[in-house]
Amino acid sequence: MKVSLGTPTMPPRAAGPNHLRGSMKFQKRAHIELDDATKRRNLNYATTSIRVKRQNVVDEVDDWAELREAGSTIKRDVLARLPELLEQFEAAVTARGGHVHWARDSREANDIIRELIEDTGETEVVKIKSMATQEIALNEELEKAGIHAQETDLAELIVQLGEDFPSHILVPAIHRNRAEIRDIFVEKMPNTDDSLTAEPAELAEAARTFLREQFMKAKVAISGANFGIAETGTVSIVESEGNGRMCLTMPETLISVMGVEKLLPTFEDLGVFLQLLPRSSTGERMNPYTSLWSGVTEGDGPRNFHIVLLDNGRTAALADQIGREALKCIRCSACLNVCPVYERAGGHSYGSTYPGPIGAILTPQLTGMDAADDPNASLPYASSLCGRCDEVCPVKIPITDILLELRHRKVEEHTPFLEARAFGAISLFWGHPALWDKAVRAVALGRVLGGFSGQITTLPAPMSGWTDYRDVAVPPKKSFRSWWDSAEARTLLDDAHRTAREER
Ligand code: SF4
Repeated sequence: MKVSLGTPTMPPRAAGPNHLRGSMKFQKRAHIELDDATKRRNLNYATTSIRVKRQNVVDEVDDWAELREAGSTIKRDVLARLPELLEQFEAAVTARGGHVHWARDSREANDIIRELIEDTGETEVVKIKSMATQEIALNEELEKAGIHAQETDLAELIVQLGEDFPSHILVPAIHRNRAEIRDIFVEKMPNTDDSLTAEPAELAEAARTFLREQFMKAKVAISGANFGIAETGTVSIVESEGNGRMCLTMPETLISVMGVEKLLPTFEDLGVFLQLLPRSSTGERMNPYTSLWSGVTEGDGPRNFHIVLLDNGRTAALADQIGREALKCIRCSACLNVCPVYERAGGHSYGSTYPGPIGAILTPQLTGMDAADDPNASLPYASSLCGRCDEVCPVKIPITDILLELRHRKVEEHTPFLEARAFGAISLFWGHPALWDKAVRAVALGRVLGGFSGQITTLPAPMSGWTDYRDVAVPPKKSFRSWWDSAEARTLLDDAHRTAREER
């Protein structure tokens, strides 16, 4: 199949269902989430401990900076020749007995997967945690067709049983504590009762018993993919619980969904990422389980292997010289764990599959921010621009640069009428120094608004948005320019010059 990527005109955006994309902007969602003290406490505890673990294992590696550079360079190379590498990958998978399917958007991907499952006659499938399948809302779409996709990753299982949404890339149930998980299991998990305690070992055992039954009877499994290797057609998944290994080896049919940007050119390149990913994500030296498979092998593992290559807006991002850097992401979630905004507002505030700093730059690019009131247009503002995400990203994505670029675009395309007029007026004053001087002197009249307290507590709209949350100090009696022209300033300056001369 011929692949055409990076088209400069009208690249396709993500289409189809996006269960998390609501009508609320980040700021509104964050206000609601900030009221949940338990969630904030859970998040603070979890992100703090992952941060510490990551830092410890990163500090052990002398050539960490070189590794990051290598990761970034490999990913840039992939993006520069993606069509060629995708064709190479397709040929290699097919040569090893696998089947490659191409999906332009989530609707196409869901249709392909549903039909493949229907062909097997199965209505129950097991599933490995995958961001790509969340992005296309696969579980919800399969449910409509009468197919139940059973999540097998522990955190994803908690989210599924709790009829909740994931709030973290790596730890989807990071917002839940042990007591909450215990209650969800007792209420929703078969063969569990009130005697279950909130001890981690007991919770893990309950999940293990339930999941083992699912693995034993499953004929079809669905997975994502951490990496696809163009030269060999190999697909790789890294995980911590062994549920992935069960799904990848036991069922007769395996269907994997992989974003087109997940490719690596050669097997050797994998070595770089198998060092970068675990240290950046779980704070481990290596992942407990690293699975690699190439097509199908007689008598070993699934008899049928299908891989769905997903675009869903990635072509649009690739066509953008600045934004395309976001496609280097290996979903390690290090940027989430260091982000002060994520830690307080939580993953649900982003209203997108990808939360945190990576979500703030990736989601608007994948799904667009076509109107001023588009909730995605609020995501680039979900950042203090402190730059901690840039420092930890293992593939050196310039997250704050992309945030600023997206903000710039939003302002260019959707500046509200009043705001545009206000900036027009300001530019008029700044272009005429005499006018600016008069305006600044006039500001002193605002002192009257402060009364005797010296603080302005209410301002009329639209400035009321500021005084709703904080007071404003009254303007000084004199502008800086007036003071500069005064005798007091001249005396001070003369004194300073004299002292400097004497000291010389
Ligand atoms: S942007 Fe970088 S730090 Fe964040 S998830 Fe992606 S690879 Fe990890």
